[in-house]
Amino acid sequence: MEYYSSHINKLIEEFSRLPGIGAKSAQRLAFHVLNMPKDQVESLAHAIVDAKENVQYCKCCYTLTDQEICPICSNPKRNKKVIMVVENTRDLAAYEKTGKFDGVYHVLHGAISPMLGIGPDDIKLKELMERISQQDVEEVIIATNSSLEGETTAMYISKLLKPAGIKVTRIASGVPVGGDLEYIDEVTLLRALEGRVEL
Ligand code: ZN
Repeated sequence: MEYYSSHINKLIEEFSRLPGIGAKSAQRLAFHVLNMPKDQVESLAHAIVDAKENVQYCKCCYTLTDQEICPICSNPKRNKKVIMVVENTRDLAAYEKTGKFDGVYHVLHGAISPMLGIGPDDIKLKELMERISQQDVEEVIIATNSSLEGETTAMYISKLLKPAGIKVTRIASGVPVGGDLEYIDEVTLLRALEGRVEL
C-alpha cells in the first residue's frame, strides 16, 4: 500500500540513493524539501545541476575543477616535481588546508579494492603513469588512506614506479587506520607528511 503520493515517493527514492542516506533519512529530507520555500528549492536544484554541468576533471591532476587546468596545476609557484597521490578531491582539500604543501597532486578517484571489484584500471592510475613519463618528477608521495584499500593501492603504485627510479614515499602512520583523510586534523596531516618514509 502506498502511503505517499508518487511524487513524494520519487523524491524519497532519489534521496535514498545518496551515500549514507537510509530510508528514514531519505523521508526526512524529502519532507524537509517539501516544506522549504519554493525559491530555496529551486536554488538547491539549480546548484546541483550547475555543479554537475560545470565541474570537470583537471586535465593534469584529475581533481574536480571549474577550469580545464585547476588553479593548483596552473600555479607557477607550485613544485611540479613533487606529486602527492590522494584518493579523492576531499583529501586534496584536506592537505591544501594545511597550506604547507607546495607540490602538486594526483587524484585517483578511488582505491584498489579486490573485494569491491575495483581494479587498477578503475582509478586514475594510467593517467598518473602517463603524467610521470612525460614530466620530470623527483618524488611521488602516496597519501592514500590507511585502510586496506589505501595500503593495497600504495603498494601497487610503489611497485609500478620504483623500476623507473622515482623516489616513492608513503605518508607516516599516525593517521588512524581506516580513517578518512578529510576527517583528520591539520596537525596530524602535517606530521604524517613530514614523517613520510621511502618505500
Ligand atoms: Zn590540476
